Amino acid sequence: MLGLMQDWPLLAHTIIDHAAIQYGEREVVTRSVEGPIHRTNYAEVRERALRVAQALDKDGVKLGDRVATLAWNTWRHLEAWYGIMGIGAVYHTVNPRLFPEQIAWIINHAEDRVVMTDLTFIPILEAIADRIPSVERYVVLTDKAHMPATKLKNAVAYEDWIAAVDGKFAWKKFDENTAAGLCYTSGTTGDPKGVLYSHRSSVLHALLACMMDTLSVSAKDSILPIVPMFHANAWSLAFSSPLAGAKLVLPGAKLDGVSVYELLETEKVTFSAAVPTVWLMLMQHMQKTGAKLTTLQRVAIGGSACPRAMLEFFENIGVSVYHAWGMTEMSPIGSVGQVKPGLEGLSGAALFDLKSKQGTAPYTVEMKIVDDSEARLPWDGVKFGRLKVKGPAIVRRYFKRENEDILDAEGFFDTGDVATIDPNGYMQITDRAKDVIKSGGEWISSIDLENTAVGHPKVAEAAVIGVYHPKWDERPLLVVVPKEGETIDEKELLAYMDGKIAKWWMPDAVQVVTEIPHTATGKINKLKLRETFKEYKLPSA
Ligand code: AMP
Repeated sequence: MLGLMQDWPLLAHTIIDHAAIQYGEREVVTRSVEGPIHRTNYAEVRERALRVAQALDKDGVKLGDRVATLAWNTWRHLEAWYGIMGIGAVYHTVNPRLFPEQIAWIINHAEDRVVMTDLTFIPILEAIADRIPSVERYVVLTDKAHMPATKLKNAVAYEDWIAAVDGKFAWKKFDENTAAGLCYTSGTTGDPKGVLYSHRSSVLHALLACMMDTLSVSAKDSILPIVPMFHANAWSLAFSSPLAGAKLVLPGAKLDGVSVYELLETEKVTFSAAVPTVWLMLMQHMQKTGAKLTTLQRVAIGGSACPRAMLEFFENIGVSVYHAWGMTEMSPIGSVGQVKPGLEGLSGAALFDLKSKQGTAPYTVEMKIVDDSEARLPWDGVKFGRLKVKGPAIVRRYFKRENEDILDAEGFFDTGDVATIDPNGYMQITDRAKDVIKSGGEWISSIDLENTAVGHPKVAEAAVIGVYHPKWDERPLLVVVPKEGETIDEKELLAYMDGKIAKWWMPDAVQVVTEIPHTATGKINKLKLRETFKEYKLPSA
């Protein structure tokens, strides 16, 4: 027997409708790419998103067509997302930090018909324009006054483009399983893979982000998503903030410590989300100037492991850290580290140990860890294995790879991460499967070593890779960047780490460098680092 409730499709643009009805006056504040702070609200964002939808419709964009965005987090980007989705077209976020060849490859693979771009990225697009033939028009996210001369095909200033329609338009109607968004993974090997989110998956994911014990997004919040919309959907915040009615503060192109600090304070931000590299810049600014945070209550840190020193820094100034884990394939939230009932008595080092873990899976995310024979491993916090996940906002197949089955016999997706899960359900990433150091048949976690090394007061950033060893196959090499004005002594650093990690995990050598390479999503580029140290001879070898 079927239930007898209404068939109300979970369409993502109903989120902006709800925000406009219930929280129409709630502010959306942006540090605009042109410079000044811009203020609008959800009612206006919705009205202008409808104009975007109408303008696309007028240009002949249809259900299922892809519209690329190369854009920072701004109110115009937000309007573009909702407008694109509202006619059943697909917003395709392109990471502008990728190499131009990769951007061209991705746009061609997606067959984007329209590209919406910030002023910042016009030179990149001009350089590849003759290699992306599917693109019929470029919409520059600016107004007439700032519109540069450009040869981009049918280029138009966004404000002119949406002013040319009357706004009398209604969202199109379609099934909730219709594609809504597309984001390619920044894989370090092989071709990028497209993850195609549906309206239904995006709405369910936004709801999960709002749960009290996930990101606890609320109407009472002022939220600064520093994590870009082009990096795994800004961790849901472009959906969950309007869904909850939170004030939204968007940082535009400026993600440095000074600019972020300024927005946190002037816009009375209560919750913010970013990768560790961005928080590092804020921390350095605060440590240098003695600046204090007066409204911030919580930060989500993810994308790569949150260093212990960063966790302690925030917690010690009264800002609660939500260590979060996820991936593009998961929309992206997979787990968040809040304190479960029964553990609230923890304090000091024990609390930090718990918060260092990547947290527990919310409803709609199922997890398992398995060994090489696919057997499930116990949740004892010790045994580690490949982390696999299942849920309604998790990838089933990659875009245009219909023949590739990426789920196991039980329907789980292999994350490529290696993890433990403790009896309380807290998952802890030990490593990327391809980054673990295999020493004498045992595994060493590069993340643990990195976290320990950055706890040293003179270390700004650390990366650990396995290098060849004739006896042990691989041994850890620690690569460090000193803090500004500091010099690092190898012996002193190793002595500092001694006792904090298992003896046989101790790095065999330390290399001091001025910079560690990063990927387009701000992760340490281990592939490049391994390239650099390919011929490295360990003194112990
Ligand atoms: P992306 O799809 O670019 O978001 O990358 C996803 C990958 O980033 C995951 O599979 C993890 O390897 C890594 N990652 C994300 N969050 C964390 C975290 N909190 N700790 C450690 N690794 C993380």
